Amino acid sequence: MNIGVLALQGDVREHLRALESSGASATPIRRPDELAPVDGLVVPGGESTVMSKLAITFELMEPIRKRIAAGMPVYGSCAGMIMLAATILDGRPDQESFGGIDMTVRRNAFGRQVESFEGPVDISDISGGPFDAVFIRAPWVERVSEDVQVMGRVTAGPAAGRIVAVRQGNLLATAFHPELTGDLRVHRYFVEMVRRTDDSD
Ligand code: GLN
Repeated sequence: MNIGVLALQGDVREHLRALESSGASATPIRRPDELAPVDGLVVPGGESTVMSKLAITFELMEPIRKRIAAGMPVYGSCAGMIMLAATILDGRPDQESFGGIDMTVRRNAFGRQVESFEGPVDISDISGGPFDAVFIRAPWVERVSEDVQVMGRVTAGPAAGRIVAVRQGNLLATAFHPELTGDLRVHRYFVEMVRRTDDSD
């Protein structure tokens, strides 16, 4: 089983490491032909406006949309969550996403005064207690369709109740960065999603 990490921009190395530590082999993806052999994809944290531009320039936008439509499992963290959203608020006018999750996200939603913070997030389906979630200029989810499973919300502080983890079919997204904290539970959960999809081929 081979999982790609979209390597146009962002915290690619951290995701490669987290995936390898979770029992998958992981490869950086920069070109459309590198996408073909992977069974799943991680879209890292970084800057979604830049990622959108580079995905168009490197001709990855359409191939990734096609693989998503064909059922490839994808996990997006932070900017990666934005890239999986059907609708983006406070984006750049020319910003595009891969889409796939029927949700509306707001970029930099937690406000400028809280550029970066840590807070507890409970994730249904993942045991072991709340995540010590790291948010860096993070989005939150303002709308989900009934096909989207809300998996996690902020549990304390001014943003309490905000949706920060979702799943729709084979697509998983978190507004926080588990790749930065050494807590491998989200990556293990995603590797298991990919393994199950792989087995059913
Ligand atoms: N604010 C960034 C964006 O809009 C996301 C930040 C992150 O990935 N840490 O893409």
